[in-house]
Amino acid sequence: MMAVETRKISVDTKGGTDVVDLTPQVSKIIKESKLSRGNATVFVSGSTAAISTVEFEPNLVKDIRKTLEKLVPSSAEYEHHKTWNDDNGHAHIRSTLVGPSLTIPFTDKKLHLGTWQQIALLDFDTRPRTREVTVQVVGE
Ligand code: ZN
Repeated sequence: MMAVETRKISVDTKGGTDVVDLTPQVSKIIKESKLSRGNATVFVSGSTAAISTVEFEPNLVKDIRKTLEKLVPSSAEYEHHKTWNDDNGHAHIRSTLVGPSLTIPFTDKKLHLGTWQQIALLDFDTRPRTREVTVQVVGE
């Protein structure tokens, strides 16, 4: 029987391209669900954050910050700042480029992640936030 289970994770972030490893929480949700195989979609609500995979080690996290700073500089001028008097134009663009969600297949209650591949929440905003991450599991 196909089933759908929806769970939420609340995550406190520091902003400024904070990278948080969500792998333990997502794995736990799969383990505690009634499903043994299917897909897990991990989605962050908000237009200045993103979900992706990384090898979660401190120097690579620094590299991600450096690379995004080169691609989408935080000090550049953004039209968005005129709209709301905001300072986070770069955070919105980074969120759009990286994307808000990720789908990961699982079988026998195990996510098909590589050994050095973790699920990461990236928060690009300019201030600390509490992020709502939805994990929706579809399968049997
Ligand atoms: Zn904004």
